[in-house]
Amino acid sequence: MLNQEHQLTRKVAREFAEKFVEPIARKMDRENYFPRDVVREAGKLGMLTPTVPPTYGGGGMDLRSAIVILEEVGKTSGGFSLLMEACGTLFSHALLTFGSEQQREDVLSKVASGEAIGAFALSEPCCGSDAAAIETKAEKIGGEWQINGVKTWITSGMYADYFLVFARTGAREERHKAISAFLVERSNCIETTPIEVMGMRGTGTAEVKLNQCPALDVVGKINGGWEVLIETLNVGRVAISGVALGIATGAFEEAWSWARQRELFGQRLVDFQNTQFELAEMYTAVETIKTLAYYAAYLFDVGRREEFITMAHVTKLQAARLTVDVTRRAVQMLGGYGYSKESKSEMFYRDAKLLEIGEGTNEVMKYVLYKLISRKN
Ligand SMILES: Cc1cc2nc3c(=O)[nH]c(=O)nc-3n(C[C@H](O)[C@H](O)[C@H](O)COP(=O)(O)OP(=O)(O)OC[C@H]3O[C@@H](n4cnc5c(N)ncnc54)[C@H](O)[C@@H]3O)c2cc1C
Repeated sequence: MLNQEHQLTRKVAREFAEKFVEPIARKMDRENYFPRDVVREAGKLGMLTPTVPPTYGGGGMDLRSAIVILEEVGKTSGGFSLLMEACGTLFSHALLTFGSEQQREDVLSKVASGEAIGAFALSEPCCGSDAAAIETKAEKIGGEWQINGVKTWITSGMYADYFLVFARTGAREERHKAISAFLVERSNCIETTPIEVMGMRGTGTAEVKLNQCPALDVVGKINGGWEVLIETLNVGRVAISGVALGIATGAFEEAWSWARQRELFGQRLVDFQNTQFELAEMYTAVETIKTLAYYAAYLFDVGRREEFITMAHVTKLQAARLTVDVTRRAVQMLGGYGYSKESKSEMFYRDAKLLEIGEGTNEVMKYVLYKLISRKN
């Protein structure tokens, strides 16, 4: 499923991760540091928005290439990989697919180049999984759309220059039929409050209050927000599996080398059969995530839409669960060191838990999957 171009992308992504991400990975985690400059570097290299055409400043690559990049970066920092995914896939894919030519030229090109940061603002204090119940309202006042409401858990929310805001354009009882997507530029009407999180730190997670905020424009059609949201999350759920793959691989690699150097009871840790079994389990999990993520991305790239949607959900569910499992096993294998802030696996373990929650929880994946498979059978 991967050709020479993908291999070349991997090489460039690895170099980028070593040169720019490795030096700030710990700082992001320990100090909740948001690496604005490194996002800019990723933009310059076309790696922030791999699937956006070069005309708008993106990489002009396919979804498999995006997974390659998120995987390579994720081996070093789950947080930075998530930042790239939220800005480069969630926000940018929505604008590329549903935005007008002007929105692409004016906003997408700035985000793709790393000059501006885009955030995807769907979740609210009332509603995450039940997205059709959101309460943020958009009203047309004097020919302009104004938005009022509160969004929460927004990745890059503290630093974003543009927000893709989902808001109600009809009664709450109309649920998904009365939701629209709006492009909102940061201004005084936006109030952001940081949220301290367990993992994926340094990603600017915030509560975002919109007080009579003028929207720049509608993205897609009025009352067509649900289509924007579903299409974007289908792609996002595969992309975030690339983040998962990176984290799981990073934890596996640390456990692998630790098991070779640690000695106890007169032999190396790796010489115990239990350790070998553990490494085999972890390897199997990593290879499973890899196969699923690249296969789902391949289905998207070749336009096998129906299969893609089902596999996007199978992949997200399994990638999230397996990454939590791999990182937990890595911490266990490293013993006290694994529990300390010195090990990478400690950070990866905390980062991994987000994968079972963000962009749809495990339960939501099963809810969607059951609906998809019932339609077929
Ligand atoms: C670090 C971080 C970053 C995030 N980034 C963003 C972002 O950039 N943009 C954005 O819009 N959102 C973002 N989110 C929000 C995320 O998408 C939501 O947290 C997630 O969708 C779950 O929603 P909730 O927190 O409201 O939980 P709830 O929806 O209240 O769920 C609570 C529990 O109920 C379970 N549940 C849900 N449905 C069912 C069911 N049918 N049956 C049984 N149990 C069920 C859930 O799985 C969960 O265990 C982020 C969250 C975090 C933590």
